[in-house]
Amino acid sequence: MAFYQPTLEFARQMDREDPLRKYRDQFYFPQHSGKNTLYFCGNSLGLQPKGAREAALREFERWETLGVEGHFKGAIPWKEYHKALAPAAAHIVGAKEEEVIVMNTLTVNLHLMMVSFYRPQGGRFKIIMEAGAFPSDQYAVESQVKWHGYAPEEAIVEVAPRSGEELLQTEDILSAIEAHGASTALVLFGGVNYYTGQLYDMEAITRAAHQAGAFAGFDLAHAAGNVPLKMHEWGADFAVWCTYKYLNSGPGSLSGAFIHERHAFNPDIPRFAGWYGYDEKRRFLMEKGFIPTPGASGWQLSNAPVFAFAPMLASHEQFYRAGMPAIRQKSELLTGYLEYLVGRMQEEGYAYRFITPKDPAQRGAQLSFLTGPEGKRLFDYLMANGVVCDWREHRLPTQDAGGVKAGVIRIAPAPLYNSYEDVYELVQLLRQFPG
Ligand SMILES: *Cc1c(COP(=O)(O)O)cnc(C)c1O
Repeated sequence: MAFYQPTLEFARQMDREDPLRKYRDQFYFPQHSGKNTLYFCGNSLGLQPKGAREAALREFERWETLGVEGHFKGAIPWKEYHKALAPAAAHIVGAKEEEVIVMNTLTVNLHLMMVSFYRPQGGRFKIIMEAGAFPSDQYAVESQVKWHGYAPEEAIVEVAPRSGEELLQTEDILSAIEAHGASTALVLFGGVNYYTGQLYDMEAITRAAHQAGAFAGFDLAHAAGNVPLKMHEWGADFAVWCTYKYLNSGPGSLSGAFIHERHAFNPDIPRFAGWYGYDEKRRFLMEKGFIPTPGASGWQLSNAPVFAFAPMLASHEQFYRAGMPAIRQKSELLTGYLEYLVGRMQEEGYAYRFITPKDPAQRGAQLSFLTGPEGKRLFDYLMANGVVCDWREHRLPTQDAGGVKAGVIRIAPAPLYNSYEDVYELVQLLRQFPG
């Protein structure tokens, strides 16, 4: 920490030396009083890359001039569109290109993956997941177990933090898997928890799930484009993620799915099928009897929604070019700077407390900090002063202060477009909060 300095000069110096500095100019920032907002909400909706609109317009033009021929003509014919994203998507999650496919939206893909990898049988019917998972994941799991005829209370095992704690201990996750091992069909975790910012040990979770004879799947919504991932090497059975958070692909944009090659090339894995998952070489023969195309593409249902896809090419190219190792390197420094500056305020007696792990290896870009009862006013003050961040009511009842619910402010410095000066200015505003 001795390395950081609490001065504007230091922040600007870091920005000048930042190897990723050129990316900032490639994004549109929402404006506030004629200036860029201090945008720290990339964990919710990433900013628009300047190339996104152009990429979409190109497809409108092709539709205009080519009509149906657009499926077969041009640099990226529409029927091949999903392939253009495979190299970047594979890089982002640490997979082979044949193991990834971009299709549908996140919750849809989570269901599709559970169709293939949650197949309760006999005494093996449980799903182990994190308590406090993102609601969509909770509802997806609840509806899956009910659909198979189980009661959620019996079939869903939630691993919760120890009493009075906010974070999960890996040890507790692993012992839950061991304890329920023989009755567990699927272990499903986030990569990074959306609320606390905790990065889970996906390798250890996968190993424990496999030792118990269960499948291991991950929701990488808050991990993809945020932290380096090695889905193939860790051996996870499947993963899903959305692309509108750290991956800057636009509101509601498509989702990625990873299916490990040991399953992806197995035509006998049960799945819900559609014509675009059909053996690519024979797809247009329109024959009876589903034969999956080898690889994760064999889970596709429909032809690609090209207008949603196009902006993704622009956004994913940035990740591919910058590379996840460089993005992570800056991310650790940038988030560390925020922690350092707020840490100084804590030493001076401010009441903020981070719930995100202190260890950079156990978190991504996001820091969630617990405010006192003034929390919502602090949040409103930040937003009124050109900061974009996010507010959640705190979920532990023990944190209620005098009947006023304390809250959590989530701040995510995104390494492709946030600067050290952004972080510095944010903390200056925190300091000027009239209370
Ligand atoms: C953002 C997020 C979602 C959102 O799901 P959509 O289907 O894209 O609306 C689901 N799960 C997690 C863990 C998320 O962080």
